[in-house]
Amino acid sequence: MPTSNPNAAICLTGSELTRGETRDLNGSFLGRGLSELGIHVDEVRLVPDEDALLLAAIRDLVDRADIVILSGGLGPTADDRTIAALAEVLGRGIERDPDHSERMKQVAIRRGRPESEIPDNFFKQAEIVEGSRVLRNSRGLAPGTFARTDRGVVAALPGVPRELTTMFEEELVPALLKHFDLEPPRIFRAKLLGHPESWAEARIQALGIDFSRVDYGISAKPGELTLKFIARESRHHEEIDVAREKLEAEFPDDLEVLPPTLSADAAETAVVNVIHELFIASGKTIATAESCTGGWIAKRLTDSPGSSAYLIGSVVAYQNRIKESLLGVDSAALEEHGAVSEIVCRQMALGALRAFHSDFVLSVTGIAGPGGGSEEKPVGTVWIGLASREQGGDTVEGAETVEAVRYEFRGDRDMIRRQTILRALDLLRRELKRRHLPRPRHLSEG
Ligand code: ATP
Ligand code: MG
Repeated sequence: MPTSNPNAAICLTGSELTRGETRDLNGSFLGRGLSELGIHVDEVRLVPDEDALLLAAIRDLVDRADIVILSGGLGPTADDRTIAALAEVLGRGIERDPDHSERMKQVAIRRGRPESEIPDNFFKQAEIVEGSRVLRNSRGLAPGTFARTDRGVVAALPGVPRELTTMFEEELVPALLKHFDLEPPRIFRAKLLGHPESWAEARIQALGIDFSRVDYGISAKPGELTLKFIARESRHHEEIDVAREKLEAEFPDDLEVLPPTLSADAAETAVVNVIHELFIASGKTIATAESCTGGWIAKRLTDSPGSSAYLIGSVVAYQNRIKESLLGVDSAALEEHGAVSEIVCRQMALGALRAFHSDFVLSVTGIAGPGGGSEEKPVGTVWIGLASREQGGDTVEGAETVEAVRYEFRGDRDMIRRQTILRALDLLRRELKRRHLPRPRHLSEG
């Protein structure tokens, strides 16, 4: 008989976690994931790799919670004890999943290890609790276990965060939906790009969304807000459509609807994804000329697989002589106005446009600190340039345009550079949209 309203407990194993050497990612991911299924999480516990403590924790949690999720300790080494402990608590044996064992064998052979020399503990990773359901690991070697307990279920997932998140989404969520009578809330998530938090908040509050039916959260990074709307009860689910329509009407150019999945990657890379789709759809190209960001903008662009279709290259022009020799910046401009100036930023952008023959160039020159500031140009002063040509190809005359914008960012070196990158990418995104390049379809489908 499926239980509705099950409660859950999460148990994160690993001495590196209890010693504080690794910062936990899995607990927060699982907490969020379960909550979004409408499951209340009563507890998140950290336990070191010690048999007695692990056994006691699992015993205790399977007594208290309908759903217990264990993270970590599925690997081949002696400190990986989760399956043995769980089997002991459940009074079951251990077996090896044949599919995962076979996959492991193939991996070893592909790595050039003769089959006869594979140590037996390598296959320890294929262990599951006897008679339990296998959770397939599509990103690693060790399968997960999904087993019944007296009051509900327990699942053991790998510790490696990307393996855990994928197994959660691909395998565990469907298993939980089948096992329990859940009423998952309806969720709408979007990025709002280029608006400061308080201003955005005021406009959202004025939209007339019924916040008694929809919970709403906003989390801010410079230049990027993540909005999340949740309708928990099914009779309020329609209010999510209302909220979405109102937001799309209020922010037609700056709202990027995120897929309703959990993966943190999706939310992290919204701007880059939009830019990627716009470039792929339009066939245009870009290069970067970076000083204080040290190539980081190019790095962010290359985070998207397939970005070689449009990112031509980048110059990290950190010293002035490279700005001159590779980008053709005037020595007179450098002397008169300094490297952090509008004219140098514009010349860097135009120089790269000619050097790379790209359709667009982002250029950056600034003072990231902590030293190097002055009254006129305090630490955090950054010029961001965007050059473009209307037509592709080599034509220099007439078709080139360049704009440069001055910012004064606050914070430490890291924060100044991060803000610079987000602003630069947002400038590019706006320009691509302004040109009415085809809008990517899948990003606008929630
Ligand atoms: P492996 O097969 O790699 O041994 P495993 O399933 O046994 O994987 P662990 O040994 O517990 O998992 O952890 C593997 C790696 O994942 C380690 O680098 C560990 O620091 C990291 N890790 C484990 N748990 C977490 C967590 N909660 N948050 C972040 N990283 C984690
Ligand atoms: Mg391990």
